[in-house]
Amino acid sequence: MEQPGGSGVSSRLKLAGIILTLGILTALSGWGIYTIPAPVVDRMLESDLRREATQLNRQVVSHLEDVDATFRVGILDDHDKEFLELLPATSDIYRFKLFDGTGQVFWSTRASDVGSINTNAYFSDILGQGNIFYKHEEKPLTEVENLDGNLLHATGPQTRHVAEIYTPVIREGRFLGAIEFYSDITQIRNTFIYRARLSLGVLSGVALFALSAVILVIYRANLRQVRNLRGRAAKERELMDDQLRLAREVRLLGELNEWLQSSRSLDELFDMVSRFMTHLLPEAEGSVYVYSNSRDVLDGCASWNGGTHKSHIHPEGCWGLRRGRTYEYGASEIDFVCEHAEPHDGRPYFCFPILAHGETVGLLHLRAHEGSDEMFHSSKKLAQLCAEQISMAIANVRMRDQLHDQSVRDPLTGLFNRRHMTETLRKSISRSQQTGAPLSLIAVDVDHFKKFNDTHGHDAGDMVLRAVGSALEQGCDRDEVACRIGGEEFMLILPDNTPDDAVTRAEQLRQAVEAVAVRYGEKSLPRITISVGVAHYPAHGTMPQDLMRAADDALYSAKDRGRNQVQVAGTPAANASATEGSKAKSELSPKAAPPPAAA
Ligand code: GH3
Ligand code: MG
Ligand code: MG
Repeated sequence: MEQPGGSGVSSRLKLAGIILTLGILTALSGWGIYTIPAPVVDRMLESDLRREATQLNRQVVSHLEDVDATFRVGILDDHDKEFLELLPATSDIYRFKLFDGTGQVFWSTRASDVGSINTNAYFSDILGQGNIFYKHEEKPLTEVENLDGNLLHATGPQTRHVAEIYTPVIREGRFLGAIEFYSDITQIRNTFIYRARLSLGVLSGVALFALSAVILVIYRANLRQVRNLRGRAAKERELMDDQLRLAREVRLLGELNEWLQSSRSLDELFDMVSRFMTHLLPEAEGSVYVYSNSRDVLDGCASWNGGTHKSHIHPEGCWGLRRGRTYEYGASEIDFVCEHAEPHDGRPYFCFPILAHGETVGLLHLRAHEGSDEMFHSSKKLAQLCAEQISMAIANVRMRDQLHDQSVRDPLTGLFNRRHMTETLRKSISRSQQTGAPLSLIAVDVDHFKKFNDTHGHDAGDMVLRAVGSALEQGCDRDEVACRIGGEEFMLILPDNTPDDAVTRAEQLRQAVEAVAVRYGEKSLPRITISVGVAHYPAHGTMPQDLMRAADDALYSAKDRGRNQVQVAGTPAANASATEGSKAKSELSPKAAPPPAAA
């Protein structure tokens, strides 16, 4: 992510760069303006002066009486001299000389020059060939006269720019001599240079302005392009992050699904849910509730990531459960807080009803962590997926439980069936073998039940069987198991009960069943009684079938003795003592109850 103000700093740096560049360009153009014009101006002046000199040359030659003679012998008549002396006043030259063909000065506006000889090579090489020779140099003030013929007196620079233009005098193809003109070009040169500099300055100013504008436009365009690129890169990065997050969520969801499918119990399932939800939705704390068997409340099963759960909540207290769909607190302007979410501090939350095979089986509650509201709201879809996974897993565990129940429970009474009892008894014996803990088995048979059925009907009989089953189950402690082994016969496995305790418990069960009152339609059914046989491990057997047979024998003994009583099995070795024992125990039992009255 870009640092706050980062782009501001970088654009300021770029602007500084542009200003620096413009500054350098300005300095360079200033230097250019200062240096470039002089040679150009000199070149322009030269061509002007050459033209002027040529005209002056023609003027002089055309005014001379006899040009040939004049240049051959250097003789001038008065008329010629007068004309020559007037010439500087009518032109820009301040001095001029006439040379004969050998380079000797035969006339000059400065008398002292007459007689001197120009021996320079250019005289014959350039002038002799009919060409002009141009010379520009700075001369001291003492060398320059003004146009009146007097020397200049200046307070400024002590030199002047002087142009010397030698022009040849050619007659019918013959080189007769030359005329040299002196022109003080200082002022005109300075004026030219000043004007050139001014024009260049203006031009370069305009150019610089145009250049700045172009640079600025390019810079802006670049800046926009860079911003666009940056924006696109940021968007791509964001997209990539999203994809990575999605891939991680999909992977975790897949793993969650796999784990949940393999969970064997709801406890195990909720443990997995807690772990996975902490990873999948780290910005949310959560809890899960499942309907109790009675379906009037939901039991708190698990919570994670800082969340807590109540032991029970009422379904009417949750807007999600009441409306049968996801409830999102904090998504709209007006919201109501669910009862189970109290005390509430304003943080947004979700309530996802957990559905299994179309039936609501629980509630997934997720609440945003402090300061992560936005992230939380955006995770709704994922949370919904999690809720669906959890729903499916709960349905699976439930179905497995149901199938297991169906295979181990009796459908009429809900007690365990004979198969489960045999298995449990085997395990209990094995445990007692190892630990030496006492173990008793109680066999129960309803008295005269055939007659009851015949009198009151099979349905009434079923109701009574259910009531008996329920009384027996309620009489069991934690590790004790009540089973219906068939018809109106039941068995109870009582681990950790001494033989005396077991007999007492058997008597309590007998009394409990005797007290059961069943209403069938409008009428109350007559009370029923049970006969009970008790056998102890290892006294009456060490194998499940031996112990069951012993308990059954004791039960039949109770039937024989008049029903509605408890009898203890006799030891296989000493039947006599068993009979005695049973007599002793039978004292606990009341007199045999009469058979149930026919309605
Ligand atoms: P006793 O006191 O000697 O045990 O007499 P009894 O009539 O209970 O004995 P018996 O074994 O002859 O009769 C058992 C009866 O239980 C037969 C049947 O009508 C009834 N019975 C067995 N299973 C069911 C059941 O699932 N529902 C109902 N309503 N009756 C059943
Ligand atoms: Mg019976
Ligand atoms: Mg029976």
